[in-house]
Amino acid sequence: MPRKILVTSALPYANGSIHLGHLVEYIQTDIWVRFQKMRGNTCHYVCADDTHGTPIMLRAEKEGITPEQLIARVWQEHYNDFASFHVEFDNYGSTNSDENRVCSETIYKSLKAKGLIEVRSIEQFYDPVKNMFLPDRFIKGECPKCHAKDQYGDNCEVCGAAYAPTDLINPYSAVSGAKPELRNSDHYFFKLSAASCQQFLREWTRSGSLQPEAANKMQEWLGTEGENKLSDWDISRDAPYFGFEIPDAPGKYFYVWLDAPVGYMGSFRQLCNIKGFSYDEYWKQGSDTELYHFIGKDILYFHALFWPAMLHHAGFRTPTKLFSHGFLTVNGEKMSKSRGTFITARSYVDHIKNTEYLRYYYAAKLNGTMEDIDLNLDDFVAKVNSDLIGKYINIASRCAGFISKRFDGKLGHTNSVATAEFQSAFQNGEIAHCFEQRDFSRALREIMRLADVANQYIAEKKPWELAKQEGKDNELREVCSTALTQFRDLTLYLKPVLPELAKQVESFLNIPSLTWSEEWLPLPTGHNINNYQHLAVRLDPKLIDAMVIANQESLQPMNEPTTTQLPITPIAETISIDEFSKVDLRVANIVNAELVEGAEKLLKLTLDIGEAQPRTVFAGIKSAYDPEKLKGRMTVMVANLAPRKMKFGLSEGMVLAASGETPGLFILSPDEGAQLGMRIK
Ligand SMILES: [Zn+2]
Repeated sequence: MPRKILVTSALPYANGSIHLGHLVEYIQTDIWVRFQKMRGNTCHYVCADDTHGTPIMLRAEKEGITPEQLIARVWQEHYNDFASFHVEFDNYGSTNSDENRVCSETIYKSLKAKGLIEVRSIEQFYDPVKNMFLPDRFIKGECPKCHAKDQYGDNCEVCGAAYAPTDLINPYSAVSGAKPELRNSDHYFFKLSAASCQQFLREWTRSGSLQPEAANKMQEWLGTEGENKLSDWDISRDAPYFGFEIPDAPGKYFYVWLDAPVGYMGSFRQLCNIKGFSYDEYWKQGSDTELYHFIGKDILYFHALFWPAMLHHAGFRTPTKLFSHGFLTVNGEKMSKSRGTFITARSYVDHIKNTEYLRYYYAAKLNGTMEDIDLNLDDFVAKVNSDLIGKYINIASRCAGFISKRFDGKLGHTNSVATAEFQSAFQNGEIAHCFEQRDFSRALREIMRLADVANQYIAEKKPWELAKQEGKDNELREVCSTALTQFRDLTLYLKPVLPELAKQVESFLNIPSLTWSEEWLPLPTGHNINNYQHLAVRLDPKLIDAMVIANQESLQPMNEPTTTQLPITPIAETISIDEFSKVDLRVANIVNAELVEGAEKLLKLTLDIGEAQPRTVFAGIKSAYDPEKLKGRMTVMVANLAPRKMKFGLSEGMVLAASGETPGLFILSPDEGAQLGMRIK
């Protein structure tokens, strides 16, 4: 019987870009979901942008747009980023949806009917200029302990002290700068301290729904039997606030953390409305479907206490399991903007392009525990090139050509001795078990062990030598066909991690979409494969360097000194203005550009600077420019350089181009309006 599974990832906040730290979770979840689908299970993966709260409201105001406009724009950015990394949601919604409003209100009303909502007056800082109550993070002042200035209302970043905003010396509003006043306001509380909640959470947190380390943490927070360590949870905020107004409380809004996890339900409700699935089947109390939340360990408190208590008391099912993971470090340290290791998803795509490399690397590190994982950039390059290219892709690139060229694309017989280990790996289910347990690192180790077996087989049989020997056609065909069956198996196992690459392989092998549920069979004799197309290229470490530098630049505020300097070559010796004016620089029109036969780096340019005859210049820019695209472009040339006789002809000048430690070569262009022949001085 196929299982029925609903899976979620935590909702990213609509106030910033997706970065490589976020992707640890989405990639991890996506791999697991793809695995479940390949196993033939019904698996729905939903997520949404988390859109409410004061930071969104204030940011929209600052940009001069409505919060709705802001969250629509960020939604599209997030959606595109996830798609680039092949994170395939069945529904990606927004917490600011009608579906989510209904779900939030339903939960609130049920809790209220159970007597678990209480209204209490609390004293809070109020900004008399902005006319709003201030969240702790929007109050600043002097630390009461170490007297550091400009510290946040909840803790001091200098000495680490935690305190209440009212303890700050000379507090001020971080929004308007005004001196805040203490005012009273009615707030709505979820009574987490109620005996029924405590009792329920004690049982639930021990029921096996949490990883062992998370369950231990919960016992700390809950205290021992008879202790009451949980406080009631403040679920309301005062207007002005961007969120859902509480049904029977005008001017009061649900705190963003109430409707954020409810966003899982709201997003699934949208999916049900589109696809006709049963919402109740997955959410009603006593449901026999499975529900899993992938989350970061920093939001365990919300997901392991507030969330199940809310669900249970409002008459819904609770999660089957929480899958909590650690944070990402880069090169062994916290991601850092000054080091350029706070890398956005978009910047990765712009520089590296192949997002499956990162999926592979993360998978190789993830083991289903709450440990942090490290993206070591050198190791990343090494692993992609040695495992993916060197071991896996290599199998197909060494064998496929012979089948196409020598046997008309038709496979021969598969050697069952050589595939015995592959057949037993499929049948013993070890790799599938690792995926199920989210121990992707062990799964990949086992897959790479099989890749070693395949490579060893090829190395022993040496198809490239068989191809040169008379009368070895049958053997050559068998070796290559056997290796391609091995390659097919590896592709099946890697498919949850590398979905796009797997698609290309399926098309090259001319086979239907690979799934896990069927019995093991070799590729049949006589099966026609397609011509081998290059599947992936080696990862160039220069791309990583360029990405790191780009992140240093783009994220460093202009008015703050950089702590890390960009690597530039030292400035040359000082010259006088007279020395400089000896160089005659002219605006030139590139009338023609062409390849030079036999030259590896050169393009032959014909440059017009307004003289009777255009000049010929050989420029070493072939690696960076398509000659067709240069034609008609304006650039800058050195017009009084002594002509040089080169192997391919006379070069009558030089064009100027920028280059540095990072890849790329960039010729200069004058601003629009410059005429050919103009002097640059
Ligand atoms: Zn302090």
